[in-house]
Amino acid sequence: MERVYNFAAGPACLPEEVLKKAQADFMVYGTSGMNVMEMSHRSKDFDDIIKSAEADLRTLMGIPDNYKVMFLQGGGSTQFAMVPMNLMQKGKAYYIKTGQWAKKAAAEGAKYLQAEVVASSEDKTFSYIPETNKDMFKDDADYVYICENNTIYGTHFSELPDTNGLPLVSDMSSCILSQKVDVTKYGLIFAGAQKNIGPAGVVIVIMREDLIRDDVPDFVPTMLKYKTHADAASLYNTPPTYAIYMAGLVFKHLIELGGVEAMEVINRRKAARLYDFLDNSKLFKPTVVGKDRSLMNVPFITGDKDLDAEFVATAKENGFVNIKGHRTVGGMRASIYNAMPEAGVDALIEFMAAFEKSHK
Ligand code: PMP
Repeated sequence: MERVYNFAAGPACLPEEVLKKAQADFMVYGTSGMNVMEMSHRSKDFDDIIKSAEADLRTLMGIPDNYKVMFLQGGGSTQFAMVPMNLMQKGKAYYIKTGQWAKKAAAEGAKYLQAEVVASSEDKTFSYIPETNKDMFKDDADYVYICENNTIYGTHFSELPDTNGLPLVSDMSSCILSQKVDVTKYGLIFAGAQKNIGPAGVVIVIMREDLIRDDVPDFVPTMLKYKTHADAASLYNTPPTYAIYMAGLVFKHLIELGGVEAMEVINRRKAARLYDFLDNSKLFKPTVVGKDRSLMNVPFITGDKDLDAEFVATAKENGFVNIKGHRTVGGMRASIYNAMPEAGVDALIEFMAAFEKSHK
């Protein structure tokens, strides 16, 4: 069978070049005589793999020296707990509720501190990013939390909130490395790998050093303390070695492509073509309008459930898979992460246009 165009929200498609490189390394990695999965995390070969993955990520995102990079486990969801456990001092944090993932993060935060939802877009099914201003954020809290790209609803913060000096914590799981960001604006960034970085199993944390503390509450397990991992350069225990190796290959591939800046140009082109088609279609409607549109996740509907189902099924038959919307919203969603080729987006648009023509 041929490879399909996989529009899944995550785990998602990976660059073919990366899969081929992993295939070439599969039986014997370099001069190790074994697959990376079989190698000790304390070996020289793996040390090179994890160090160059970190160095390449630092290059790609322009991560300053006063930020630590950690390769952790437990997915994005474990970060919902690690963030409050490690950052709480005053015992309060502000959350901007822009979707299910921000909502889950706030609920988890509420187990440990006062998680105040300062703004929400739940009134309109999370189809926009709510406005905030710096007066909403007082000195009585430890951080401001955002989910920068809302995978399910297809919204993205086009501008970061002015946090009035509080550290900004961002869940970048579905937008990391898709467009340029200024890392100095954040206290902590985290991202599960399974969308723009590599296979599931590793979550990347980029954290300003002064926020990494030893004196977290006693109940915090050793494995859930950022300091444990920051001090041990992500080798306190056995890290997800193969996922880190794959992430490293993706970083090298991005550097060869011209970095995040070059990727952003391609991503903007892909998203613009798809939104342009949706804005002009008589059958398909985008669910997000205006400046809050995500470059990565593009939800759309026909307005008729049966027609949506027919479209999803026909798309699958034609090699466009995982285009069904999230179970909580229905309709369709095309996730067009970094690894989705422009040809995939063009082919999808062509298919949608033909479907529209045959359903007049
Ligand atoms: N944050 C965002 C923005 C997500 O899209 C997801 C999952 N797709 C998560 C967090 C949860 O990640 P995980 O499944 O790795 O726990």
